[in-house]
Amino acid sequence: MRAADIIMKKRDGLELSREEIAFLVGGYVAGEIPDYQVSAWAMAVFFKGMTPGETAALTELMLRSGKTIDLSGIKGPFVDKHSTGGVGDKTSLILAPLAAALGIRDPMMSGRALGHTGGTLDKLEAIPGYRTSLSVDEFREILRRDGFAMTGQTAEIVPADRLLYALRDVTATVESIPLITASILSKKAAEGTEALVLDVKYGSGAFMKEASRGAELARSLVDTGSALGLKVTALLTDMDEPLGNKVGNFLEVEESLDCLEGRGPEDLMEVTLELAARMVMLGGKAENSAQGLRLCEETLKSGKPRELFLQNVKSQGGDPAKLLEMRGKYRSPHSAEIRAQRNGFISRIDAWKIGHASVQLGVGRNRTEDKVCPTAGVQFHCKRGSAVKAGDRIMIVWAADEAGLTAALPGLAGAVEYSDTAPGKRKLILREIS
Ligand code: URA
Repeated sequence: MRAADIIMKKRDGLELSREEIAFLVGGYVAGEIPDYQVSAWAMAVFFKGMTPGETAALTELMLRSGKTIDLSGIKGPFVDKHSTGGVGDKTSLILAPLAAALGIRDPMMSGRALGHTGGTLDKLEAIPGYRTSLSVDEFREILRRDGFAMTGQTAEIVPADRLLYALRDVTATVESIPLITASILSKKAAEGTEALVLDVKYGSGAFMKEASRGAELARSLVDTGSALGLKVTALLTDMDEPLGNKVGNFLEVEESLDCLEGRGPEDLMEVTLELAARMVMLGGKAENSAQGLRLCEETLKSGKPRELFLQNVKSQGGDPAKLLEMRGKYRSPHSAEIRAQRNGFISRIDAWKIGHASVQLGVGRNRTEDKVCPTAGVQFHCKRGSAVKAGDRIMIVWAADEAGLTAALPGLAGAVEYSDTAPGKRKLILREIS
């Protein structure tokens, strides 16, 4: 078999056999097939797609490229949530302790900020001392004790995705439905979860810009996940505007705590609770999502999820008392405000533009090896639908340094769109695909 023939076959739109995909994945992980050939293959997949059978084979072969986490000996049900990526998307920090308070075990293996989207690991690491590179034994112990554990992908788990994702990121091949499907599901299956709730985002701040493409991705994820033996459901949710009122690593930890204290912004709470309700349902703790939603709302009020969150901070190396003290104060000194340019209504705050400017502020990274700034970010004082007068404060922003602040300001101001009449309400959750 030759890599060049496999690339040619995909380039011509033909279906690859399992053996051909195995040759490519195995050869790449072993260092026998070079980046330039795998890049060419990824681009061919980007344009020609994959059949459901090819996608399932790729996912399974990627999963088998490394070790998997063994959760035997720990009582389930194991249910996780995964988002396809967005701006201000901090739902994982809220729903993991919430689901845990309802008897779900969430073995969460998350990623870092990449491109314009944020990453759960970077947010958690904004808590001084918090460790996200747990050993498998630590991961198991914290999961058993706290009901959830938050870790990053190790070198041994799904090495094929680690290599392929980094390559796709620099070869404009991220936005491919079969490649995203295999990337997400290989990692989720490796962490040992039995069920998975997917938050498939669409809109300017998502990888899939149109709802129809988001629905296609959701269908591919649900079908491939089911073929792997996982219980899966997906919500198609709006990512045209940032979720919640804060974007930034420590800022998002703060906002998650607000949500756990019942003071979260409406949009963030709606998406979080609907996702958590499905986790509770898939874990067998509720008969349907409506019952799951009621349970989640009641449990949030009990304060138990907040306690579990703070317990997890301690388990993973942070200091809960110090975290609570730092709220509202841990900010970069390089700050500015964005003010309304005219009277009227805010008709839209473009999530992609905010995400892109946030990278300039230091929230995200341009390359995997870049460091992120914990105290950079954006706080919104107005969102879509707010009535404003010229000069009203719309956002406060904090940057890692003055150069980043100067670079980001035009993009942040340009993200705000105005109208003379109040815009209609946007539907946050478009539909469920299962
Ligand atoms: N998240 C992933 O883990 N992989 C992708 O390909 C896209 C989003």
